[in-house]
Amino acid sequence: MRLVAVGTGTVVPEKNRGCTCFYLESEGSRILLDCGSGAVQGLARRSLAWQTLTDLIVTHFHTDHVGAIPGLLFALKHGMRPTRREPLDVWGPRGTRRLFAALAEALGEFILDPGFPLRIHELSAGAPGRTADGLEVAVHGTPHTEESQAVRIRGDGATVAYTGDTGLPEGTAEALGAFLRGADVLVAECSLTDEEVGDNHLSPARLADLASEARPGLLWITHVYPHVRTRHDVAELVRSAGYEGTLRVVEDGDEWSRSHRA
Ligand SMILES: [Zn+2]
Repeated sequence: MRLVAVGTGTVVPEKNRGCTCFYLESEGSRILLDCGSGAVQGLARRSLAWQTLTDLIVTHFHTDHVGAIPGLLFALKHGMRPTRREPLDVWGPRGTRRLFAALAEALGEFILDPGFPLRIHELSAGAPGRTADGLEVAVHGTPHTEESQAVRIRGDGATVAYTGDTGLPEGTAEALGAFLRGADVLVAECSLTDEEVGDNHLSPARLADLASEARPGLLWITHVYPHVRTRHDVAELVRSAGYEGTLRVVEDGDEWSRSHRA
């Protein structure tokens, strides 16, 4: 399995960071985790195969996580020679079908009918899906928006988990941590400082609590607001809040991989 950070930014436009997007590749899958503004160009810039994506996983409907979906589908329909025929599976929370229908209403039928089968699967907690390639996609609701979910992808000898956007109100670390537990890589948001954060995002101390429950092989910290990143050493704050595992504040282009037979 190979994981590439395509977009590690937030809603704030930045010179070197796109909005949220991660690319996960296994033997038979090329999966996007969220598709925020700039994602398609981010894939092309890193020579990642946007043309042959097999799955798109959407955690919630904020624009910095879904803004590039129309551009991706427009490129898959009109930007490829020869024409794409392979299906694309879209996985998201309840409301994903309605989102795509509304985008089609506004922008055109290519959203739902891009010239190849577009299959939308709405996932809920406790009822994981299985990709065409046999990977398990499980979700767990998060306190961020009404529909927001964390996701865990398992198969091909590895597990990758992703918080999406989430808060961690008092008493919720255990349940979300248990869902995310034991991933080889946990991609986690850390939007704001401990002083600023409310119950709909993570901060270094809240992330330390969550990651201490989840105990991933590697913690990738993403979605840090630029004013936090420039004023603080976020990795050090997470460590000093009590997290003892390996971690990294990721940048666009960072990669992790594990050989199937390693
Ligand atoms: Zn969000």
